Amino acid sequence: RERTTVRTFTPPGTTKDGHRVELLANVGEAEDAEPAAASGAEGVGLFRTEFCFLDRDDEPTIDEQVAAYGPVMAAFAGKKVVIRTLDAGADKPLPFLTDTDETNPALGVRGYRTSWQNPDVLDHQLMAIARAAGEHEADVWVMAPMISRVAEAEDFVARCTAHGLRTAGVMVEVPSAALLAGPLLARAAFASIGTNDLVQYTLAADRLLGALAPLSTPWDPAVLRLIQLTCMGGQAQGRPVGVCGEAAASPALAAVLVGLGVASLSMTPRALGDVAALLGAVTHQECQAAAGLALAADSADGARRAVREALPVLA
Ligand code: PEP
Ligand code: MG
Repeated sequence: RERTTVRTFTPPGTTKDGHRVELLANVGEAEDAEPAAASGAEGVGLFRTEFCFLDRDDEPTIDEQVAAYGPVMAAFAGKKVVIRTLDAGADKPLPFLTDTDETNPALGVRGYRTSWQNPDVLDHQLMAIARAAGEHEADVWVMAPMISRVAEAEDFVARCTAHGLRTAGVMVEVPSAALLAGPLLARAAFASIGTNDLVQYTLAADRLLGALAPLSTPWDPAVLRLIQLTCMGGQAQGRPVGVCGEAAASPALAAVLVGLGVASLSMTPRALGDVAALLGAVTHQECQAAAGLALAADSADGARRAVREALPVLA
């Protein structure tokens, strides 16, 4: 398979005045790990584990899972690797786990929710992650997708702890999770905002529906306010909040996210160079000012325009 060359950057990511912003890679399958590491990524901020499960009639064995997760940890030895547990649903169906008959797959039994009926699949996966982590030097963090209530964070953290996985976090991709970020982060060690789904659920706009594309943007001030609330919850609890959705790959938005208080940005490796360059050209205070303007806008276009005007380096 052909791969485009990725633009590299020299870590660590910082603003012009030295404010640290961890720049991480999104990894979708084991083969992505080496090029991601070569791109300069400081670690993996989102390892989507679905690749190991899709197109299968039965659950992969623990050995198979260990073999699938290990290479990513090996490519990032000594570095942070954030592994997301299985995010299946009627839109990403698995014969042994999901129901394909749901009317609204995006609002259905997906992500962490599949563990209500099938806790074993999650437990086996956590067991495999713990085993792979034991065989490699990476700093392994684990997070659950589609968390929407505090009790779910509590349950997930308890399960991770039982498997010896000490750094357990939650994805914030549902508005309820953003609104409850404080109590969630009193339980979880970190949060990672999945802006793709957070946009979808905030605007009630199917992320795959082209006709709704005008609604589907992380520049929407309602989305930005939910990100701000999440960061405030993180600050109150002394827990880091990152972003791992597509928004992190846009240099202008990256500045806004840093201004809102986001500590790490995880993206497709080929975007790292541009995001690092933009952050290196602005101060933390400029990011905060840009975030203030974006929050005060009354439309996505208005937010984008205000930030472009405020940060001449974007012109
Ligand atoms: C997200 O929702 O932003 C996210 C990172 O998860 P996925 O795109 O895999 O749903
Ligand atoms: Mg998601």
